[in-house]
Amino acid sequence: MTKDIKIALTGDRPTGRLHLGHFVGSIENRLKLQEEADQSFYMVADIQGLTDNAENPDKVRENVLEVALDNLACGIDPKKTTMFIQSEVPEIAELTVLFLNLVTLARLKRNPTVKDEMKQKGFGEDVPAGFLAYPISQAADILFCHGNLIPVGEDQLPVIEQANEIVLKFNSLYGETFQKIKPVISETPRLIGTDGNSKMGKSLNNGIFLSDTKEEISKKVMNMYTDPRHIHVEDPGKVEGNVVFTYLDIFDKKKDEVAELKKQYEKGGLGDVIIKKRLIEVLEYVIAPIRKKREEFAKDPKAVMKILEEGTKEARKIAEVTMSEVRKAIKINYF
Ligand code: ATP
Ligand code: MG
Repeated sequence: MTKDIKIALTGDRPTGRLHLGHFVGSIENRLKLQEEADQSFYMVADIQGLTDNAENPDKVRENVLEVALDNLACGIDPKKTTMFIQSEVPEIAELTVLFLNLVTLARLKRNPTVKDEMKQKGFGEDVPAGFLAYPISQAADILFCHGNLIPVGEDQLPVIEQANEIVLKFNSLYGETFQKIKPVISETPRLIGTDGNSKMGKSLNNGIFLSDTKEEISKKVMNMYTDPRHIHVEDPGKVEGNVVFTYLDIFDKKKDEVAELKKQYEKGGLGDVIIKKRLIEVLEYVIAPIRKKREEFAKDPKAVMKILEEGTKEARKIAEVTMSEVRKAIKINYF
């Protein structure tokens, strides 16, 4: 274990294209850490994607390229960040098996993230064991390279907490091997969905994607929920819980103008169409450069897969070193 080295690691499940929630919740911090950390890793979490998509491998397979493209388009630079595919680093699976012994079933069932996502996906006792255990696999994703700085959205905090329990348990049973993991949370730890749902999610059908065209953005914004009692322009409207204003607060740089609009809206006399049109322009300003860069990278998918292949080789080398430390610590190093 090397102390005080900053190792950033992050990842996405290849279950769909990435959206604005990823951008403000995690990607902006990935870009910052790419410059500030000593080492940075980006993982396409295909095995985790399969935990609730076992019957749909095509979906996971197709989205590997999509999430890689989204990250490259946002500015993840393969020269600075090792980009790799989870399933191609079998040491992560090996580490997961060893960690499984350090966590109880009761603890997994109590994990608030797992509980929320099970409800969302309609799982009861029929939950796939792999899905229930994904926090354990996520601890292995992080620890295979001694990752300690993890840019995540708020929804993932209980998973990081559980990973830290694994660190403590491992170190107390087998000797100091892993360091404490620090989640890196952004100013917008959880972006709400276009439908007002508490989280924009790629599996929730409430996202504005980083690859959306201006027409798609417009359609989604025009359908956004504002205030059901704000029927006529002259009616006073509510700003709190109004999705359009929530997004303006996050994405509109002109804070004083937004504050003025809010006042007008609350007083009455400001129509939804005006604030929606403003939001469309604001979001287009954020997304247009990403979309353009994405289109460039998308012209050569083989080159993107090559980046992942090279990164995976690099990740495996590191994983092998960690596994030999782990095997020694657990006394399963025989030959
Ligand atoms: P799925 O619905 O398939 O789980 P997802 O949209 O939750 O997809 P993930 O790949 O699970 O996306 O998450 C990748 C990262 O992005 C995680 O760190 C997660 O916390 C963060 N993230 C996802 N959605 C949001 C959001 N709405 N706000 C802030 N961060 C988010
Ligand atoms: Mg998720």
